[in-house]
Amino acid sequence: MSQFWSQRTHDLTPYVPGEQPKDMEYIKLNTNENPYPPSDKVLAAIQAASDEGLRRYSDPIGNELKQAIADYYDVDISMVFFGNGSDEVLGHTFAALLKQDAPLLFPDISYSFYPVYCKLFGIESIKVPLNENFEIDINDYSIENGGIIFPNPNAPTSKALPLADIETLVQKNPNSVIVVDEAYVDFGGETAVLLTKKYPNVLVSQTFSKSRSLAGLRVGFAIGSPELIEGLERVKNSFHPYTLGKPALAGATASMLDVETFEKNRDALIATRDWSTQALTDLGFEVTPSSTNFVFAIPPEGHNAEDLYLALKAKGILVRYFKAPRIDKHLRISIGTNEEMQGLINALKSIIS
Ligand SMILES: *Cc1c(COP(=O)(O)O)cnc(C)c1O
Repeated sequence: MSQFWSQRTHDLTPYVPGEQPKDMEYIKLNTNENPYPPSDKVLAAIQAASDEGLRRYSDPIGNELKQAIADYYDVDISMVFFGNGSDEVLGHTFAALLKQDAPLLFPDISYSFYPVYCKLFGIESIKVPLNENFEIDINDYSIENGGIIFPNPNAPTSKALPLADIETLVQKNPNSVIVVDEAYVDFGGETAVLLTKKYPNVLVSQTFSKSRSLAGLRVGFAIGSPELIEGLERVKNSFHPYTLGKPALAGATASMLDVETFEKNRDALIATRDWSTQALTDLGFEVTPSSTNFVFAIPPEGHNAEDLYLALKAKGILVRYFKAPRIDKHLRISIGTNEEMQGLINALKSIIS
């Protein structure tokens, strides 16, 4: 509290990122980072961009990065926007596209940044409960001249909504902006990019932080109709035109072009996720089949999620526990390397027995 804060600052409820403790070396399975390093090509591009040229401003337009994204997804370059992490892309999206006459709808269990942006930008919102299977029921989403946002696959449930359902949702809501936050789509969801070519009101956001091993570089992007993208550019250029520094532009472009490393790491992660799901199930966990790089799991009978989280932390393994309605019996466990997941399974065996 301070007399120097504006009323809006007093009223904010800031986002709290997953812990990044420095007191010891943890097996970090709590923030859905990728366990594999960025490729040599990406690191070389970042290093090559880190020279005396840094005295000059970076390119505010970033057409090379935009073109690499446009080519990968087979869309026109006018349909691509990028920012300093998809959190910034989402922030600009809330400001540019989601403050409408009618409220913004999003699931009660989803990315906890959405309500934070609503407060920051003064956007009225309605939380729509997931059904009893923790799924989005598209029949629950109907709004005229408003907005809808949800992660697909959803976090922390790890469940994906089929593309056909998203298209039905879009057709039912032609006068509202529909944002599909695809932070995890590469691990098992169907991207809605196709819909951005058919419908002017669909925006897809993605990130380099999860499937492309670049959380620390801070790059995210969005794909949508040229009119939605132009709206985002207007807000970006009213706030901070040089979103990405030169190393980030170069690294993200190289990453987008390095399809081979991307696919290899994605496939390895999915294989680790699948055996880890089985190993947790064998230990008595109830594990939701995951379309993401994490699993959402209920511990075996007689074991409480918060206690398990603390016991794992004491053994040097960090997972995520949410003390929140409906999900306080679950743990969210990011998928690490095979060795890290074996370490988790061994630790759980010794705690549980
Ligand atoms: C991780 C995540 C983001 C943010 O990603 P950054 O690009 O690192 O800002 C956005 N949405 C969801 C659902 C996420 O899990």
